[in-house]
Amino acid sequence: MPNTNPKSISSNQTEDPAFNSIAEHLPGMIYRIQNNADWNTLYLSKGTYELTGYTAEELMSEEGPTLASLIVAEDYDRVWLEGQTAIKLEQPYEITHRINTKSGEQKWVLSKGQAKYTTEYYENSEATIPELVVEGILLDINLQKETEIALLNSEKRFRKIVDGSLEGILIHRDWQPVFINKSLVKMLGYDSDEQIYNLDSMSSIIAAHERERLKAYAQARLEGEKAPNNYEFEALHNDGSIRCLEVESSLMDWKGETAILSTLIDRTEKKRAIVQAENQRQQLAHINRLNMFGEMSAGIAHELNQPLTAIVNRCAAARNRINSEQPNLEKVKEALISIQEQAQRSGDIISNMREMVKTKQSKKQEIDIAEIIHFCITFIKTEGFFKNTSITTNVTENLPKVIGDPIQIQQVILNLIHNSRDAMQGVKNNDRHLTISAINHDDHEIQVSVSDSGTGISQKVESELYQSFFTTKKDGMGMGLSICRTIITAHKGRLWFSRNAQQGVTFRFTLPTV
Ligand code: ADP
Repeated sequence: MPNTNPKSISSNQTEDPAFNSIAEHLPGMIYRIQNNADWNTLYLSKGTYELTGYTAEELMSEEGPTLASLIVAEDYDRVWLEGQTAIKLEQPYEITHRINTKSGEQKWVLSKGQAKYTTEYYENSEATIPELVVEGILLDINLQKETEIALLNSEKRFRKIVDGSLEGILIHRDWQPVFINKSLVKMLGYDSDEQIYNLDSMSSIIAAHERERLKAYAQARLEGEKAPNNYEFEALHNDGSIRCLEVESSLMDWKGETAILSTLIDRTEKKRAIVQAENQRQQLAHINRLNMFGEMSAGIAHELNQPLTAIVNRCAAARNRINSEQPNLEKVKEALISIQEQAQRSGDIISNMREMVKTKQSKKQEIDIAEIIHFCITFIKTEGFFKNTSITTNVTENLPKVIGDPIQIQQVILNLIHNSRDAMQGVKNNDRHLTISAINHDDHEIQVSVSDSGTGISQKVESELYQSFFTTKKDGMGMGLSICRTIITAHKGRLWFSRNAQQGVTFRFTLPTV
């Protein structure tokens, strides 16, 4: 590349006054330079100073910096290459790059120009070879470029937010996507944006049976008619499966034309979880019904067992008396009354259970616990076993009434007494003690207890005590305590047991007072 040092005829004056005037008033820096690596200047307009901070004279003097040295180092090679390529092709160039100004500030400039052959500035007439000079203008585009960069950065930030969003975003016009984000690509099971942009129509991501509905919504929205903004629809995943998407749609302006903006959330898993939970709930309800049915049937059998046994025993006793040489009709009458009572009781138990099944609620009323205890003691005294057992009752006088179902409370007390009886089977006659108490526990509840001197309850038995069908008895059903607890809990009370200091155990339950 030639590196002749031309004689500058003027820094910012040519021989043409009209050109000088125009050049003086034009913004930017008009230049004529040699096409060499330093771009030695042949002419620079006045605007040089405003653009670079150097006067035209400074840049044209031998001591001053070369024009090339003003170009930011990172941009230099590109500027050179683009410039030389245009020059070779004899075409104008247009290059955007940065320069360092005298004050050390970097500025974006646009360099526009073209190369041409000339000899006109060489006073040395011997120079016959035409010189290749480059003429052009350098314009300050710093503000524009900074705005452009800021816009680009803001777009990058916006894109990052949009792509980072969990929601799928789709902007479409006439079902052609004009914008989609990464979440949508992922949500629909595609590998890249292009695959979606290349679809014939966005309607192909909608399950066939949904297309008409969604197209009608879009049409209505575009025509300014009523259309739902938020709805669910079934979409076609790339793997062929159906996904349930929730969408929020609205109109927007996209590059000067109306488009539809849709944000989408995949609700498939949530829906599946809801359906699963509902199925489980139904299954559980079914199991519960079965359990309740099982508990009730076992309960009926258990409860009926007592009166029926009593009836059988009473019948046998009455027959024996009638068959004896001197039948004691009074005793037979007693037995018949008892049989009638037991039969009545059986009927009550059954109708009570039936009522429970029908309404799932028992008949609650104000009850006097002392009366119920009295009934239970009269009832058990007819059983032979208790003839050899000391029975004590400790019922506080004027106990407040409780709200409950008298037959159910009777059932609980009788169950506890019968468990005591069974626990005392192996105990000698004189050591069998049964105590039934009822006290005013506090202002809000009374406490009933059944205490025995039986074999007691081991730790092992205790751990399973209230489980349905748990029994340690040969003929036991293991339903008594579980039913007792169910009944007492339904009465908003508590049932528990404790070991006696001497022997046996005490079962207690509370009932809220009226
Ligand atoms: P079942 O009487 O049919 O066995 P329960 O649920 O009423 O059913 O009682 C379960 C088990 O609890 C009994 O088999 C027995 O082992 C134990 N149990 C209940 N009450 C007493 C008690 N008062 N003393 C000792 N063990 C008892």
